[in-house]
Amino acid sequence: MNATSPATLVYLNGEFLPYDQASLSIDDRGTLFSDGVYEVLEYFAGRPFAMQQHVDRLKYSLAGICIDPPSVVDELPAISDELIRRNDMPDARVYWQVTRGPAPRNHLPPSDPTPTVLVTTTPTQPLSSNPPARQWKAITHEDLRWKRCCYKTLMLLPNTLAKQQAKRDGCQEAILHQGVAVTEGGSTNVFVVRDGELWTHPANEAILRGITRDLVIDYARAMDLTVHETAVTLDELRQADEVFVTGTTTHVTAITHIDGHPIQLGEVGPVTASLHDAYEQQLMQACCTAGQTSPHA
Ligand code: PMP
Repeated sequence: MNATSPATLVYLNGEFLPYDQASLSIDDRGTLFSDGVYEVLEYFAGRPFAMQQHVDRLKYSLAGICIDPPSVVDELPAISDELIRRNDMPDARVYWQVTRGPAPRNHLPPSDPTPTVLVTTTPTQPLSSNPPARQWKAITHEDLRWKRCCYKTLMLLPNTLAKQQAKRDGCQEAILHQGVAVTEGGSTNVFVVRDGELWTHPANEAILRGITRDLVIDYARAMDLTVHETAVTLDELRQADEVFVTGTTTHVTAITHIDGHPIQLGEVGPVTASLHDAYEQQLMQACCTAGQTSPHA
């Protein structure tokens, strides 16, 4: 991915500004305390995917860390459309970040903070028809995060450290576990396939309830596959017929090896391939089908 050009516009607190002119207070609580939340969504052919789900989850995360949602949150879809248009970036990842805002450094925030609202865009590849499922290798890694992973907060240090370890080991993802129970990936949700049925962690406080996860569960059930929202153990993960991960930018990606050992033949399995195809078709239909009237699928 290219570095953002200095002229690319970003949205910051009510203004569209060139990237190199946008600046935050050094006292922003997002920087000092990771006191904020975020979302990442994708646009293809100028249209967003699952926009409303991202708005809803942003509000859920804001409520979870006691930030009153600024009214501009409801305008994020229109602001994002405008940014995509002005940056001439029809295929892009859009990042929303809302922090509690700037305040003199003190653990206790002021009673009436002014949240910081940031929107950025990064170009991505356009959709192609029938792309093959991506294949990743993963490590397993202790889940060192806090007890409210259901909120999409800026506190990503355990995730980024685990992913750096994965990279050092020649892998693309770290599958996190609490004791022997698998929770999720460093930036994805994890699914295991066994005897044609699916297992994934329940949507409780231990994981982020992925928008892709929920869509994939819907597609699986529509294909008459049984889905268990039950955590698997590390042994069950390693002995699975198939393992795959899901995420907004990851889509459905096969995990072919874990800790250096292949999952079965170390290939993309048939259930992973079907769900990958279903997700790609849905993206294509929502974003790239001619005659769409609303950009907000
Ligand atoms: N879990 C974690 C920890 C994540 O960071 C992400 C994506 N950012 C996901 C799951 C997947 O969520 P979504 O499908 O909504 O992108």
